[in-house]
Amino acid sequence: MTSRETNSPSPLRRGACLRWLLALVLSLGLTSTVRNLLAREQPPKPFEFSLTRMGTFFRITLYAANQTEASKPAMAAFERVEQLEDLLSAHRQDSEVVRLSRAAVLVPRPVSQDLFYVLDKSLQISRLSGGAFDVTIGPLVDLWREARRTKRLPRTTEIAKAKAAVDYRNIELDSQGRTVLLRRKDMKLDLGAIAKGYAADQALDLLKSCGIQSALIDAGGDITLGAAPPGKAGWKIAIDDPSPQGKEAPCTLVLHDVAIATSGDARQAVEVNGLRYSHIIDPANGMGLQDSGSATVIAPDGITADALATALSVLPVPEGLRLVESIEGAAAYIVRRTGGEWRHFSSRRFPQECNDIRKRGN
Ligand code: FAD
Ligand code: MG
Repeated sequence: MTSRETNSPSPLRRGACLRWLLALVLSLGLTSTVRNLLAREQPPKPFEFSLTRMGTFFRITLYAANQTEASKPAMAAFERVEQLEDLLSAHRQDSEVVRLSRAAVLVPRPVSQDLFYVLDKSLQISRLSGGAFDVTIGPLVDLWREARRTKRLPRTTEIAKAKAAVDYRNIELDSQGRTVLLRRKDMKLDLGAIAKGYAADQALDLLKSCGIQSALIDAGGDITLGAAPPGKAGWKIAIDDPSPQGKEAPCTLVLHDVAIATSGDARQAVEVNGLRYSHIIDPANGMGLQDSGSATVIAPDGITADALATALSVLPVPEGLRLVESIEGAAAYIVRRTGGEWRHFSSRRFPQECNDIRKRGN
């Protein structure tokens, strides 16, 4: 699976930066341009921006000659993320994806390029993962979000009813008309496991179209990286590892021009009767995952890394590693606690550093 399918061009057409910048430059006045010309010969410096987007901290770090040359592209990137949140959020009742769940039952509905692209990619990962990743998961997400609020497990009858509405094969895409049809009226789409990675891709694409090459986008743990910072081998990324060994000796990788995403239950889970249930749900049984751990995926783009990290959280380790090995440019590092024991697994292409630290530590 290539990182970006040729038949579904990235919705960000060329010249997007100019449109965004023009809007920004007109609003901020032209004076700064003169200042920029004077500052041009300075070596690029790092600038950091963060805003709350998609219910999490979106952080942008980029290298530019000066504050003005840094903030305009950064603000344009945040605008792009805001635009995607309006389309892809399950939390906004007027978002395109929420309206689609209501309107596309048995009737094909035209959708935006962004939503079509994300659904097309979602179905690819669903097929590759045998349904472990499934964006029709919405009815079960609602049940487990309620469980996190009330600290009460959903009843088995509630889970059975919600689970019946979950099946990615009930989404019908037509690339000719760019339409989506849902085969059941009780379906609810939830893009929580893939849209942050996509938004991080789009933000990075926009910075590049503004001439910014060295940049890091961190969308709540879904990270996309541009070129290495000037004069450095890459960006230092600490791998999220919830095991005691991971806490004692964290593994740090130096990466550039890739995406890296981690899924796990560290931040969102509910404990009932001494058992932890993750916000990641196994569509096969409708239950929040119970064996703790994390799955970190390196991939050519954020949308793939984000979705695969969730799929690998659900799949048994051997199947997850086989899935990642079958995808060009993808690699994975899985931390799993079954019973009382923590274990670490990595796919062949995952950088050796993490295994070396574990070997020294174990
Ligand atoms: P991931 O593993 O990447 O995703 C887990 C999320 O995916 C779950 O929360 C659930 O939504 C869904 N999921 C669970 N199991 C599966 C499965 N088997 N297959 C596919 N998907 C599954 N949070 C807020 O609190 N407020 C907001 O307003 C808000 N807005 C958001 C808007 C957008 C566009 C997005 C993408 C997310 C938003 N979120 C918001 C966060 C969202 O609710 C999730 O908590 C977050 O996306 C989980 O990301 P993760 O990397 O932790 O886990
Ligand atoms: Mg994810």
